[in-house]
Amino acid sequence: MYLKRLEIKGFKSFAHKVDIQFEKGITGIVGPNGCGKSNITEAMRWVLGEQSAKSLRGHKMEDVIFTGTDKRRAMGIAEVSIVFDNATRKLPLAFEEVCLTRRVYRSGESEYFINNSSCRRKELKELLMDTGIGKEGYSMISQGRIDEIINQKGEERRLLIDEAAGIVKYRSRKDEAEKKIQRTHEHLLRINDILSELN
Ligand code: ATP
Repeated sequence: MYLKRLEIKGFKSFAHKVDIQFEKGITGIVGPNGCGKSNITEAMRWVLGEQSAKSLRGHKMEDVIFTGTDKRRAMGIAEVSIVFDNATRKLPLAFEEVCLTRRVYRSGESEYFINNSSCRRKELKELLMDTGIGKEGYSMISQGRIDEIINQKGEERRLLIDEAAGIVKYRSRKDEAEKKIQRTHEHLLRINDILSELN
C-alpha cells in the first residue's frame, strides 16, 4: 500500500484546489519559507483524523479553513482527500484505491467520507487501526517525535509496538467489551436495588 494522491482545497494557505501526485519512492517537497510545505503534512494528519487544533498550529478546528488574503476572500469549507493504493488489500476494503476525505465548516462541524460514502470518525479510525497510518501511527514522524518516543514511558511506547504488531484493533474491542460488561454490571445492581425495594 502506498500514498498516491493528496487533494487539498480551502485548507490553510491552499485556497485553490491542489492535487499532489506521489510516485513510488521518495518525494521531497521544497519551496521558500512560508509557502505551505508544513501545511501539506498537516493536511495529511488532519484528513487522518487529527483532533487537536493546537498540534495544527491553531486555536480551534475552523482555523484550518483558508482565512483569505488581500486578493482572495476567505472560504467557508476546508476539504482534504488522501488516496492510497490498496492493491495489497492492507486496508480491509475490496477497492484497488481508497480515498479518505474530511471536510470542515466554519461552524466547526466535520464530515468524513470513505470512497465518497459518508462515515463517522470512529469508522475511519477503525479502518486505519494497525496499519501505522493513523494520526498516531508510526508512518508519520514529525519533528521531535523520535525524542518523544525515546522519552516515553513503557506503557505509552507499547501503543506504538501494538500498532506495528497489528493488535490495536483487538485491544480496542476488548476495552469496549469491558465497558459494556461494567455497564451491564451497574444495571444489574440497579435492578437488584429495585427488586429489594419491591419485596
Ligand atoms: P517554513 O519553510 O518557514 O517552515 P512552510 O513552507 O512550511 O514554511 P507553512 O508553515 O506550511 O510554510 O505555511 C505557512 C503559511 O500558511 C503562512 O503564510 C500562513 O499565513 C499560511 N496560513 C496558515 N493558516 C492559514 C489559513 N487558515 N488561511 C490562510 N493562510 C494560512
